[in-house]
Amino acid sequence: MLVSMDKLLNKAKKEKYAVASANVFSDRSVKACFEAANNLNAPIIISATSYVPMEEIALLVNYYKDKYENVSVSLNLDHGSDFDVAMRAIRCGFTSVMIDKSTLEFEENVRYVKEVVKAAHAVGVSVEAELGHVGKGFEYDETRDSGLTRTDEAFDYVKKTEVDALAVAVGTSHGVYKGVPNLDFDLLNDLSNIVNVPLVLHGGSGTGDDKLKKAVQCGIQKVNLSTDLSGAYISSCSKYIKEAGEIIDKDFNVTYKGNRTVFTNTCLDMGLNGYRDLLSHYIELFGGKGKA
Ligand SMILES: [Zn+2]
Repeated sequence: MLVSMDKLLNKAKKEKYAVASANVFSDRSVKACFEAANNLNAPIIISATSYVPMEEIALLVNYYKDKYENVSVSLNLDHGSDFDVAMRAIRCGFTSVMIDKSTLEFEENVRYVKEVVKAAHAVGVSVEAELGHVGKGFEYDETRDSGLTRTDEAFDYVKKTEVDALAVAVGTSHGVYKGVPNLDFDLLNDLSNIVNVPLVLHGGSGTGDDKLKKAVQCGIQKVNLSTDLSGAYISSCSKYIKEAGEIIDKDFNVTYKGNRTVFTNTCLDMGLNGYRDLLSHYIELFGGKGKA
């Protein structure tokens, strides 16, 4: 069943677990999300940025939601850059949009996000927004401290914008970390006490199981995963190619004894398996198993 994200996250908040939010990029990554959620009887959030074909992803999600009737799934726009992108996602059938104006000043951020909330709520779509700024892993050592969410702003921000979920910056980062992830759990605890809507942790990849588990215990209800999952997909494909003993010549032609279509499909299916298995691990880690 395709539902709005606030339904999944409010249940998670009440029952103290987090829903895994998996960034997808293709048909097999979407299928992997449904397989993982179905196998574990868990809710799942499928997230797509505007860098992937949103229309196509929405069609795939609609296709698989009928195949996997027991799966509670939300389709979420990740890091929507502006009002137009958010509206496009809603038109495609997304049930949640994240609008990211975290680099703007507080009042500007509020003003922009409020407009999206008004439009989205009118058609039953939930909204996530970010306060503070979760930066990029390659500059983690320089930017980790400057972007942290401020407790004195968080309550006001949620009240003024009426967002359904708040992405907070508590020491995680997008992509591959330069240095060791250092999460401020005291800050997270404080934010969890101050804010009455579900909290979102961006930059789950590479953070480490122990820290992610603790973040969930401290009040996170949605953990975003992208880099780790695409990494698992690619490494599973590569492993298959290596083990199959394929030879790729200087013109990148694959010489293969059998059927190349079968080979290609099998290779991509191995990617799906790698993505699904790692996602399943995270769903269990966050306590989502059996919570559909
Ligand atoms: Zn993010």
